[in-house]
Amino acid sequence: MKIAILGAGAMGSLYGAFLGENGADVWLIDIWPEQVERLNKQGLVIEEGSNHKLYKVKATTEKEQIGPVDLILIFVKTYQTTEALRDISPLIHKQTIFMTLQNGLGNHELLAQRFGKSAVFAGTSSFGATLIEPGRIRIAGRGETVFGACNNNYRKEDLDKLFLLFEGSQLNPRLTEDALVQIWEKLLVNVGINALTAITNVPNGYLLKNDALLSLLEEAVTEAETVARKLKVTIAPNPVEKTKKIALLTGQNFSSMHQDLHKGRQTEIDAINGKVAELGSEIDLNTPVNKTLTLLIKAITEIKKK
Ligand code: NAD
Repeated sequence: MKIAILGAGAMGSLYGAFLGENGADVWLIDIWPEQVERLNKQGLVIEEGSNHKLYKVKATTEKEQIGPVDLILIFVKTYQTTEALRDISPLIHKQTIFMTLQNGLGNHELLAQRFGKSAVFAGTSSFGATLIEPGRIRIAGRGETVFGACNNNYRKEDLDKLFLLFEGSQLNPRLTEDALVQIWEKLLVNVGINALTAITNVPNGYLLKNDALLSLLEEAVTEAETVARKLKVTIAPNPVEKTKKIALLTGQNFSSMHQDLHKGRQTEIDAINGKVAELGSEIDLNTPVNKTLTLLIKAITEIKKK
């Protein structure tokens, strides 16, 4: 299978290396010349625990040189999706399928609008990865890649092909009947952990040790749960308990929003707490905690820029 991955950062490089090792013809696409040059010249080093492994990969800043592909996997940050999808027509043939495993809401809707729902598959990844320097990433943890179709008109052979591809690539696939529910389930956890740890500069586990932060976590997740239920998204019961469990399991980790904010980078707040607030106001549901967290992240982002 010929694959193009949009975004050769932490996750794009990881998935690209694993898929390539399984025999797929993978192209990593990025706008960051230093990363592309390092990947082509030296390969990708993946650190995991005390192990280091070098993967041979192909990377480019020029989409045009690749030609049509069978799968386009999107792994840019959510606020980069629109730009990354610009000018991708040279990559597309009649049967090209699209997949997003990005965090937050709005990504698969964007793809479906552009390329049609039946060509789009979406879900979540519980792998964790950090980019250490160009050409080098660290796997923080392995998990499942859970995905499914975005409507009932998809080609079953596409989903089967994706499952086998991911299974052979050690990406631990699991299929879901409803990709949107899967995305919301992960969103609820991110709503409770990411912004709070970023604003207060603490690792995930600290949220459970501080009464004020714990109460904000509970309120943020409950607001998001109420929005999801009002929108008839059939999420599992008790997302607050699930979020606390994940904060405990990942206690020593710093969330991706924490890392982005403290490195002076833009965050995915608009697709996480910001999206909950936006959807809430569309259906007349007040979400004061999510609104406040969104504004605080935006304020700190601005301050860090100066
Ligand atoms: P990242 O910032 O490491 O990588 C994004 C890459 O996209 C960067 O290398 C950037 O240069 C590139 N890019 C930006 N604009 C582009 C464009 N127009 N065209 C091509 N490339 C472009 O981000 P990441 O950590 O790999 O995360 C990617 C997505 O996966 C996010 O939505 C994130 O929430 C999600 N995710 C991350 C993890 C994780 O552990 N890192 C886990 C699960 C999900």
